[in-house]
Amino acid sequence: MAHFQLVLYVNDIFVDFPMFKKLLLLFIAFSLSHSLSLTAEESVPVAVSSLAQSTADYASATYQQAMTESLAQLVSFNTVAVEGLPSPENPVHQGFKQELARQADQLGLDFSDYGYVVVIGLGQSDERLGLITHGDVQPADPSKWLKSPFELDATSEPGILLARGAEDDKGPISTAMYAMKAIKDKEISLKRRIELYVYMAEESDWAPLEAFVKTHPMPQLNITIDANYPVVTAEKGYGTVKMTFPNKVLNSDKPYIKSFSGGFFTSQIPEDAQAIIAHANSNLLEKIITQAAKQKGMIYSYDWHDDELIITALGKSTHSSEPQHGKNAIAHLAALLSDRHWPNNASGALVNFINTHLGTGIYGELFGKIAFKDAFMGPMTVAPTVLTQKDHGIELSINLRQPRGKTLEQLTEEINQTLIQWQQKNQVNLLNIDVDISEPFVQTDAPQVPTLLAVFAHYTGIKDAQPISIGAGTNSRLFPTAVVFGPAMPGKPYTGHSEHEFVSVEQFVLNLKMYTAAMVELAGEP
Ligand SMILES: [Zn+2]
Repeated sequence: MAHFQLVLYVNDIFVDFPMFKKLLLLFIAFSLSHSLSLTAEESVPVAVSSLAQSTADYASATYQQAMTESLAQLVSFNTVAVEGLPSPENPVHQGFKQELARQADQLGLDFSDYGYVVVIGLGQSDERLGLITHGDVQPADPSKWLKSPFELDATSEPGILLARGAEDDKGPISTAMYAMKAIKDKEISLKRRIELYVYMAEESDWAPLEAFVKTHPMPQLNITIDANYPVVTAEKGYGTVKMTFPNKVLNSDKPYIKSFSGGFFTSQIPEDAQAIIAHANSNLLEKIITQAAKQKGMIYSYDWHDDELIITALGKSTHSSEPQHGKNAIAHLAALLSDRHWPNNASGALVNFINTHLGTGIYGELFGKIAFKDAFMGPMTVAPTVLTQKDHGIELSINLRQPRGKTLEQLTEEINQTLIQWQQKNQVNLLNIDVDISEPFVQTDAPQVPTLLAVFAHYTGIKDAQPISIGAGTNSRLFPTAVVFGPAMPGKPYTGHSEHEFVSVEQFVLNLKMYTAAMVELAGEP
């Protein structure tokens, strides 16, 4: 309605300038039709076509077993990055890519190896639909798994398939390949060629992919299958703050923290931590046990070694973009020791710092002014994730996930201010301070969103699904129009990066249906 009023108004004003008026009216007519079509897309639910439904049914009825066997092969390769060894030269990565080539060939899909990136394709067309995945994984601690993390375990817990990569991101690779196979079997004519991208260093180094997308012609429409449903249009920025607490020899017969260790890798909320307290006594232990009783979800064990008290903490690991689903063992163990200011050797200073500026909260509330939130993207999250014993002291890595709303300069400045003040107040000179933060990502141009929401609504019964923002970062930002579509259900903890990574059989099959239907809708000839 506003547009019609504007046309009349413009008509009156520009009556003496016919050419200008014509151009302006053309422009307004264009905006009007454009905005009407957008409104229609948003307000009228998109129905899932019968072709998409029948192909999805065929895929799930025919290929559940084969898809599971495919995943079993893919997870058997420990494709964690090896420092100093580029993926194209890593023999395990080479073996993984050969397995992908073998499976693609068996399914009648084409296969191209570009080194860091593999493309598995179906159909011929200049117009293309890209599915974005990755074949590398985060490390796994075998002692935490009932079977090897690199063996698909379908029996330990009924109904779920456990393995490193089951959810992040090898499950989606197998699912996409069998969705493509079903589309090929059904001889669906494609207006867009379908291309499955498998990047081999998503968890460690995005530079090779950034270089690749500059020289490789990208699909016009892209879907990343590496996080959550229903559709992810915004991702927080990833930040790491590192600092080293310097070694200092203490000659004291009073209690002090002799060592403090914990954590595994920077994008995992740590579930293990350990502290050794020298010259401890039963009085101190009693206080600690009283504190421990106030914490929920943490398990502690205590050992004595002469007058040294060894405290071992077990929390719950989770992806560091979802700290609310985990229990941070480093933060909680430090909190047990928060009744005093410890002598400033490396471990003592570290514990003092954690208790002053991190605490057991997850939003950075104690870290100077850094806490903030965005209405759509949610709050900034802040978590200590890894402690590394270095020659000169203990390095603390803190993982940040920030929404839009602050410039990187402002955030960096706020972090540095807090560190400066803490050092002055505590007479500690932190070494090797490093603040490295990336921009959050918001996708504003994604014409496939209504179709993806319709597929999601049809298969889950969740009718009012809307685009969401997540704490994790995916490769979406490097591909034009890309948004995330699964594989994890909204609200459920994402198990990738945890020591209990799995995909449920039910979800695995549901993903096959939804990915098949989405591909038919977006790539099939109408
Ligand atoms: Zn991933």
